[in-house]
Amino acid sequence: MKPTHIICHYSEIGLKGKNRKFFEDRLRDNIKKVLNTIGADVFQSVHRIYGRILVKLSSEKHESLDDIKDALQNTFGIAYFAFVCRVPQKMENIIATSQNLLSEEKFETFRITSRRVDKNFPLNSQKVNEEVGAGIIAGLDKKVKLKNPDITCYVDIVDRSAFVYTKRFQGPGGLPVGVSGKTIVMISGGIDSPVAAFYAMKRGATAIFIHFHSVPYTNRASIDKVRELIQVLRIFQTKCKLYLVQFSPIQREIMVKTKARYRVVLYRRFMFRIAHAIAKKEKAHAIFTGESLGQVASQTLENMETIEAVTTIPIMRPLIGLDKQEIVDMAKRLGTFEISILPDQDCCSLFVPKHPATKSKIDDLEKEEEKLDVLNLVEKAILDSDIEFIK
Ligand code: ATP
Ligand code: MG
Repeated sequence: MKPTHIICHYSEIGLKGKNRKFFEDRLRDNIKKVLNTIGADVFQSVHRIYGRILVKLSSEKHESLDDIKDALQNTFGIAYFAFVCRVPQKMENIIATSQNLLSEEKFETFRITSRRVDKNFPLNSQKVNEEVGAGIIAGLDKKVKLKNPDITCYVDIVDRSAFVYTKRFQGPGGLPVGVSGKTIVMISGGIDSPVAAFYAMKRGATAIFIHFHSVPYTNRASIDKVRELIQVLRIFQTKCKLYLVQFSPIQREIMVKTKARYRVVLYRRFMFRIAHAIAKKEKAHAIFTGESLGQVASQTLENMETIEAVTTIPIMRPLIGLDKQEIVDMAKRLGTFEISILPDQDCCSLFVPKHPATKSKIDDLEKEEEKLDVLNLVEKAILDSDIEFIK
């Protein structure tokens, strides 16, 4: 039997009290957007029904079901979903459809799990279970087994209809992208920052990406990598904005005028100043990075303190407590790892000494920065940056 609808269930959104409608509307809009990327004709409508999002499928577009499944498995906010058959709220229809659906499956034992949301339906869910179960036993000659059955047939009685299905698919959990507002994500082309971006989006933030590059001192490989990485991350957020910031003029100034041992920390202070300014422009409320404590010289607590001293908005480091291997495993699951390990020339490694300072004092850094026209350099970098939309 071909499904007529999809029912999407969410978990945490249900807990959001007065904000619930806001969360549900965002999830509905995100589901619409992601279905539209498969084709505007694969669905007819998406709307909220009690505690669920209901998608009405187009009857002639069944070849897209696998694509739809993949897309919903990556739509944050969905706990689980199912392709369902909608039938009138009458026992004979519910039983006939259950028989039909189950006759397509191989199994010996089954159970019926029904939920009656419409309380004016005359039978309670236990009664529905019994009557549908009796219909299956009579029609298909199978056995009921409540614990660990081979197959479960679900019956949802809601929205003046009944929805029957046998398979549930896990969603990714999290919160719908957008409900947490916007954040800047600093993305480098390395392994870590795409994973950090994933965690930002998973908790409902819309990611706006910034990448610093050192063209013409380096080739454009890191830019191409970042574009490719965002293409992968786009499964979670259908449209992504990317700022490409030319970092070489700032690096040149730092290289010529400041002490070599502070270069990495000075670079990073500039990155954060620029990210901060772009956050203000974009009305974003945080900056996400892929830093993990102690991983490299710039990621000691001392350096994190002196680097983030130049900003006043929260710096989020979702990978802070993860080991490299844990981050690598996650990057592999996301599909970003293979792109991240392609060779490139990282702007942070340009003109840096073998032994950069692992401890830096704000006073020392400020003394170095007195030799630079900080405000102008930041402003010019933003003015000269390129903006791309990756769709
Ligand atoms: P990654 O694997 O994400 O490159 P990393 O281990 O190389 O991280 P660093 O080079 O210290 O560590 O960078 C720490 C974080 O700073 C990165 O995760 C990223 O968020 C940000 N960052 C570093 N370089 C850049 C860059 N060129 N453009 C944008 N953000 C950057
Ligand atoms: Mg890196």
